[in-house]
Amino acid sequence: MILSRATFAQIMAKCGWHAHLKGEIMLELKSKDETREMDLDAGSWRNFVWTQPPEVDHPTYKVVGPIERVDARDYVFSRIVLEEGTEWYDEYYGRHPELREMDDKSRGRARIMGERLLEKSPINEQMAIATFSRAWIFGRPDYFKHMAPLKSMPTGMMLNPKKAVPNPRQMTRKIKALALFLGAGRVRIAKMDQRWVYSHAHAPAYGKPYDSETQYPYVICMAFPQSPYYLETHTGLGVNLEVGWKYSFASYVSFALADYIKRLGWHARPSPTTNTPYMVPPLFIDCGIGEDGRCGYTVTKEFGNNWRPGSVITDLPLTPDKPVDFGMQDFCDKCGICAEACPSGAIPAGSREEVRGYLKWHVNSDKCYGYWAAVGRTCGICQAVCPWSHANNAWHRSIREMAQRFPRLRKLLIKGEEIFYNQKQKPDPKWLSEEVDFEYLDNA
Ligand code: SF4
Ligand code: SF4
Repeated sequence: MILSRATFAQIMAKCGWHAHLKGEIMLELKSKDETREMDLDAGSWRNFVWTQPPEVDHPTYKVVGPIERVDARDYVFSRIVLEEGTEWYDEYYGRHPELREMDDKSRGRARIMGERLLEKSPINEQMAIATFSRAWIFGRPDYFKHMAPLKSMPTGMMLNPKKAVPNPRQMTRKIKALALFLGAGRVRIAKMDQRWVYSHAHAPAYGKPYDSETQYPYVICMAFPQSPYYLETHTGLGVNLEVGWKYSFASYVSFALADYIKRLGWHARPSPTTNTPYMVPPLFIDCGIGEDGRCGYTVTKEFGNNWRPGSVITDLPLTPDKPVDFGMQDFCDKCGICAEACPSGAIPAGSREEVRGYLKWHVNSDKCYGYWAAVGRTCGICQAVCPWSHANNAWHRSIREMAQRFPRLRKLLIKGEEIFYNQKQKPDPKWLSEEVDFEYLDNA
């Protein structure tokens, strides 16, 4: 059933709310105790029943010491692309000889497993590789050169001859609506915080500082939900296809949004998956996309940790959002389902510890990647099993609402999750796993 705005306002009035339309799409609701604003065009009138996560003044992570900036070259995913015999390989392992043997083994194992999977089922395996490959292309520095400078275009496609100076509040709504239209599931505006920017880039801009690219005041943070159905295949082809596609898709949308901003005359630096200049979790937590989870991902209220990020850094005048608190810290303290399910033991079952001045659950990414290398594929187990990652339907929204509003029910809900939800690996969907007869041609 689709309710018109006016009908919805009438229903709310009958329920004791004074409701009136503000502008074209905002509905203001006033009762004796509170005033709420709802964005009807974003479909969020449903937020009256299933609320948006409550905003708070400070993020729910705790800073306990001086924050050390992270060198992106130290991430395991940056290390495993280094090839023996190259200048970057020699530079990195010259500084970190203690990691060389472990990384060489992981690289070798991943290669062997990947080759085996390809040999066994090339027609199917290449699908996931093809979807992910776009994310790599968007991350190449030369790709940034193509953004918005096209001058010899039909008139309607040219850049604005003058810089447009918009009202920040209206512009924020426009940007959010465009991001939702382009496919984001949640979009918020963060203030840029240089503490979260990497000190050095990984390949392909190996060793370069990101400082000059991140001097703009705002980051448009977008979360792209992944299908729970495909994530349930845990380490199957379904996970690889969905993760690769969402990374590439998020990168594409980041470029489209940045291009739009540049066309208005402002600076915009998209952050595709393979060329993001900052740590995603703290920045996305700062603007209220979600909260820090035990699994190391930022957990949203709507689709749990089952999403991928896209973002744009810009000086376009925007209004930043606040962080949120829907009880995740307490929920993760009581839960631990992801830690139990993780086959590599990378997710801690215990309490938070200090990591670079930041109190958090420390996920061991070396152990995590070791498991990926052993199976030759991406693993999505911790995303599939999180109770917040279920499909965003009326039933699960209602349970999330209870988890947010009634802390005493959380243990019961976690028990229910363990009893009623089968966290076992599901097979790949038939269309994906079905084999195709083929033969190789010599000149293929
Ligand atoms: S991706 Fe898999 S191996 Fe890595 S932390 Fe999650 S469950 Fe563990
Ligand atoms: S599975 Fe449980 S402990 Fe892990 S992130 Fe989700 S809610 Fe937190």
